[in-house]
Amino acid sequence: MKLLVTGGAGYIGSVVAAQLLEEGHEVTVLDDLSTGHADAVPPGASFVQASIIKAEGVLADGYDAVLHFAAKSLVGESVEKPGLYWSHNLGGTLALLDAMRRTGVNRIVFSSTAATYGEPERTPILETDPTRPGNPYGASKLAVDTALTAFAGLYGLGAVSLRYFNVAGAYGAFRERHTVETHLIPNVLKVALGERESVSVFGTDYPTPDGTCVRDYVHVADLARAHLLALDACTPGEHRIYNLGSGAGFSVKEVVDVCREVTGHPIPTTVAARRPGDPAVLVASSEKIQRELGWKPAHATLRDMVADAWTASAKPA
Ligand code: UDP
Repeated sequence: MKLLVTGGAGYIGSVVAAQLLEEGHEVTVLDDLSTGHADAVPPGASFVQASIIKAEGVLADGYDAVLHFAAKSLVGESVEKPGLYWSHNLGGTLALLDAMRRTGVNRIVFSSTAATYGEPERTPILETDPTRPGNPYGASKLAVDTALTAFAGLYGLGAVSLRYFNVAGAYGAFRERHTVETHLIPNVLKVALGERESVSVFGTDYPTPDGTCVRDYVHVADLARAHLLALDACTPGEHRIYNLGSGAGFSVKEVVDVCREVTGHPIPTTVAARRPGDPAVLVASSEKIQRELGWKPAHATLRDMVADAWTASAKPA
C-alpha cells in the first residue's frame, strides 16, 4: 500500500514507518520537525518536511491510507498553552481529514492516548469506560476521536484510534529523544548516562503499594505492530477504538529499580512534589485488540523495554 505517516520523524511514528517498510509498503513521512528528527525518518521512506495543514498537496499524489502521529504531546505544556494543543491536535487533524476527503483517501489509523480517560474509576481501563480528560492534551485527542466517529458516519471514513498507555523501549536505533524530556524512563537513563545527577520521583504519597504512581508500559515494537493490524482493520464507515498497554502496572520506584539492574548504575533519586494531573494508577485492558485484531505483545517485560532503550541510548545511531 502507499501510505502517508504524519509525524514519522518522531519516536513512535518512526518505528511504525520502519515496520511498514519492512512489510513492503511504500511510505511517505510528513513531519515539520518541530519535535522530530530528520535522521529518525527510516531509510527507504520519502520525506516531506511540512505541517499537516499542508497534507493535501502530498495526498493529491494518491494514497491508500494515513497513519497520523503528528501532534503536540506534553501534558504540562498543554495546561500552559491550551490554544496550541487545540490548534495543532484538533485543528491540524481536521485539516488533514478534510484533505483526505477531498483527495479520496478514506482510511486512517490515529495515535490516541490513555489521557482521554482522565482519572479512572477502576482499573484495568476498558474502552467503554468514561472519558474525562484532565488536561487539554487528552481533551484535544478525545475531540479527534469524536470527529473520527462523525466522519466515519457521514463520509464513510474507515478509522481506528489506538489509545496508548506508557510507551517504552526502542526498535534498533529508533528511540525516544525529546529536546525537553519529561518521560520517566529516558530521564532515569540520563542519570545512568551521566547526563543528570539524579531523577525526581514526583510524589511518594499516592494510594499505591509503594506510594508512587503506577503505569502500564508497552514496548514500542509491540505498539507499532498494532498499527499494522489496525491498518488492515480500517473498514469504511466504521470508527474503532482500542487500548494499547500490556495490562500490568509498575510503580515509579519499580521502574527505577529495573533501570538500576539493567544499567548497573546506582541512579540516585530525590523526592519531589506530585506533578499536577498525574492519576495514581493507569493500567489498560488490551483485551479488545487482542480478541478482535489478534494483537499479542511479544516484549511484555519491563526489563526488555528498559534494556532496549538503554542499548539504543548508550549507542545512538
Ligand atoms: N515521573 C517521575 N519523574 C520523572 C518523570 C516522570 O516521577 O522525571 C513519573 C510521573 O509523575 C508518572 C510516571 O513517572 O507518575 C510516568 O510519567 P511519564 O511522564 O513517563 O508518562 P505519563 O504517565 O505522564 O504519560
